[in-house]
Amino acid sequence: MINIHESISSYSSEVSGSGAQLVAISKTKPDEDLIAAYDAGQRHFGENKVQELCGKYERLPKDIQWHMVGHLQRNKVKFIAPFVHLIHSVDSVRLLTAIDKEGKKFGRVINVLLQVHIAKEETKFGFSETEIKAFLTSEDFKSLTHVRIAGLMGMATNTKDAEVVTHEFKQLKSFFDELKAANSPLHTMDTLSMGMSGDYKIALKEGSTMVRIGSSIFGARNYVK
Ligand SMILES: *Cc1c(COP(=O)(O)O)cnc(C)c1O
Repeated sequence: MINIHESISSYSSEVSGSGAQLVAISKTKPDEDLIAAYDAGQRHFGENKVQELCGKYERLPKDIQWHMVGHLQRNKVKFIAPFVHLIHSVDSVRLLTAIDKEGKKFGRVINVLLQVHIAKEETKFGFSETEIKAFLTSEDFKSLTHVRIAGLMGMATNTKDAEVVTHEFKQLKSFFDELKAANSPLHTMDTLSMGMSGDYKIALKEGSTMVRIGSSIFGARNYVK
């Protein structure tokens, strides 16, 4: 059995020691596990399903900052728009436009990260660097008033080959730095979300500002599909 209190203490000190922020990825885990992490001082939690995120938001303490890390459908944005702290997984302009619209409705500026496709796998969602550059100079981008693009998120190839992962994170960091240098006042890029249980050490070394750790904190997930 994993001791959630101990894992939060050790990961949060390691991650904050690198100047980054720890998001505890609690998908599939019961409320008691989140409360154990909360009692150990953790306030940032991430989920990948809208329904589960909304249920946990309703039941758990209101000072938790909720992160959406999974693929998000446009018609579900309205459910999380009133409270979500950061959406990591914006992978299309249409989704971004939908978030902007819901932000307007709820009178909030919603913080988002653009997900960049850095892995070799075909299955991972995300923009290419070229698409992001084109978008950031488009009229569509200028018309957004209720989203703030706070940075980028990327998932490396799922491999034990540290060189491949290092290369992908380096590439994402250098793209992040390039965009940051061109910061506009409305979109201050300060967040680079990269690193999970298996690769967060590499991510921190390569300049991540936010790591998303799930199974190493809470134990392996049991998926019932
Ligand atoms: C599940 C998930 C994580 C956490 O994965 P672990 O390997 O359990 O740490 C991080 N990011 C995203 C986008 C996820 O879906």
